[in-house]
Amino acid sequence: MRPFQYDRARTLTDAAQITQGEDAMAIAGGTNLLDLMKLQVETPRQLADINRVGLGEIADTDDGGLRIGALATNTATAVHPRVRADYPVLSRAILAGATQQLRNKATTGGNLCQRTRCFYFMNIDQPCNKREPGSGCGALDGIAKLHAVLGASGECIATYPGDMAVALSALDASVEINGSDGTERTVPVRDFHCLPGDTPWRDNVLEPGEIITAVTLPAPGGGTQLYRKVRERSSYAFALVSIAAIVEMEDGVFTRADLAFGGLAHKPWHDPRIAQALVGNAPSAELFDRAADVLLEDAQGHGENDFKIPLARRTLHAVLEQASEDAA
Ligand code: SF4
Repeated sequence: MRPFQYDRARTLTDAAQITQGEDAMAIAGGTNLLDLMKLQVETPRQLADINRVGLGEIADTDDGGLRIGALATNTATAVHPRVRADYPVLSRAILAGATQQLRNKATTGGNLCQRTRCFYFMNIDQPCNKREPGSGCGALDGIAKLHAVLGASGECIATYPGDMAVALSALDASVEINGSDGTERTVPVRDFHCLPGDTPWRDNVLEPGEIITAVTLPAPGGGTQLYRKVRERSSYAFALVSIAAIVEMEDGVFTRADLAFGGLAHKPWHDPRIAQALVGNAPSAELFDRAADVLLEDAQGHGENDFKIPLARRTLHAVLEQASEDAA
C-alpha cells in the first residue's frame, strides 16, 4: 500500500473540500477501497474519512417513502422495519451480498460506488482500460466468466458487482448528491451508473468533490417483491445473474412488472420495454419468453460467459413464474 494522508472530515463541506483534490478520495466503510489500495489499484495521496459527517439516518419522507442516509450500513438498512415491511426486495438483495461482517461496515453510498471485480482490473500487471486508459482490455480474450453480455463495449466488458443497487433500480430509487460548492442534485439510480462506452474508467456520474448523501425510495406500492441471485456457491459470491422484481396482478393479468438485472452489464440493467411486454397480459411460458427476448435482444457473449445468456432467460422465467403465483 502506498503512503497517504488521512484526514477526518467533521462536516460535509470539509469532506467535499478535501475530496475535490486530484488524488483525494472519501472513505466510509472501506470494504472495497482498502482492498484496492492494498493491491495498488487505487493509490490516493489523501483520504477523507467521512464516517463522522452524520449521514447515517434512515427516516420516513413526507410522501410516504424512505430516505436512507449514505452512511447507513448495509446491515442497518436490511433489518430496518420499514425496509423489511415495504421494500423487502431491498432487504433480500442486501442480505444476498457479501458476509455479515462486511455488511456491518459497508455503507449505502460506498456500495453504490463499489468497483468491478474483473481479474484484470484487480491486477496491476495486467492490461485494463478501466484502471489504465489505453492499455487494452485483458478480459476480451481472457478470463470473462463474470463479465457483461449487455451494454458492453470494445473497450470494457466488466460488470457492476453489487446486489443492493439492482433492487434500488427495480424500486426506481433516487441518489442525492452534494457538490463541493454546496450544490445538491438528485439522480435516478437507473442513471447513476455508466455504461463503459469509450470511457470505461468512469463507473458513475459523480464528479470530483461530489459525495452521495442519501438514497430515497418512493412510497411503496403493493404486489410481490422478489430477489433471485444465481451464483457459483451459495454465499459470498458475486452474481452470475440476479433479478429484482416488483410485480402486481389484477384479474389474472400483470398490472406492474418493474424488473432490474445484476451480473449482466456495467450497471444494474433496467429495460422499460420488459414491463411494456408484460403489463396487461396473463402469465404464460410464451409471455415469459417474449420478455426474455426483449431483455436479450442485443446480448453478446465473450466465450467464457456465453452461458449467461441462456441462464438469464431461465432465471427470468423462474422469477416471473414465482412472482405471478405469489401475486395472484
Ligand atoms: Fe479492464 Fe473492463 Fe477489460 Fe476488465 S473488462 S480488463 S475492467 S477494461
